Amino acid sequence: MTGILEGKNILVAGVTMDSSIGFSVAKVAQEQGATVLISNFGRALGITRRIAGRLPAPAPVLELDVTDAEHLRRLPELVGEHVPTLDGVVHSIAYGNPETVLGGHFLTAPYDDVAQAVQVSAYSLASLTQACLPLMSPGGSIVGLTFDATVAWPAYDWMGVAKAGLESCSRYLARDLGPQGIRVNLVSAGPLKTLAAKAIPGFEELEANWDSRAPLGWDNTDQDPTARAVVALLSDFFPATTGEIVHVDGGYHAMGA
Ligand code: NAP
Repeated sequence: MTGILEGKNILVAGVTMDSSIGFSVAKVAQEQGATVLISNFGRALGITRRIAGRLPAPAPVLELDVTDAEHLRRLPELVGEHVPTLDGVVHSIAYGNPETVLGGHFLTAPYDDVAQAVQVSAYSLASLTQACLPLMSPGGSIVGLTFDATVAWPAYDWMGVAKAGLESCSRYLARDLGPQGIRVNLVSAGPLKTLAAKAIPGFEELEANWDSRAPLGWDNTDQDPTARAVVALLSDFFPATTGEIVHVDGGYHAMGA
């Protein structure tokens, strides 16, 4: 049986550990027949290179700091060393200073830290997309990860505002890239125990009761359902879907209590 990403080249940006959602996306994408490139930045690059060895197939590791204009400029060149074109790009990136913009300091967070959270977690969907566009053609798919930004959560604070920006950004990108046949969608995942999540002071409060309130239940150590949804959106099985947010949260978002 052939996989749903057979013959496709996919860049997954934002893989540090094997707990990273991006790692599971890369794994499922390879299992579905894709050639996968992964990226990370800075000091964690060495860890990413080691972790890449745990994927089913080898995956080149590229350096990409989404706040670095030079990194974005040279990205097509780096990708081009491995594959001639990209069919899909996964944005699995977020950062906010856990001491200031997360954890219950909403009213006192300094603007510079808020700006950094918005640049890394929201604006970068547009800058990463723009950097990859020269390699993409009709049928291409961009997928990002959000945490439901329609409501206020405990502890999530300015990251919630950044995610609202990300969700809006994906709709504008869908508007502008639709005429080129490129889709832009997000997966809204329930809480998962990743590095980024563990760095949020008060994350336990945010995830409390998720499993019991979600009609399907929720395993916060299982990245696979989220990864599969991302891979489905990368595939040709959502050809007329763009500007969409697919919830992978056990159904939590649809319940009133
Ligand atoms: P993760 O493993 O920590 O992944 C986040 C990635 O973003 C890391 O690889 C991180 O690199 C990278 N990153 C941070 N700043 C960057 C920059 N300037 N340039 C390039 N990469 C940068 O955590 P994750 O939970 O899998 O997060 C992936 C995505 O899923 C994020 O958008 C997150 O908000 C979203 N999400 C997570 C959950 C959850 O509960 N975990 C739920 C819904 C949505 P370093 O590790 O080197 O900093």
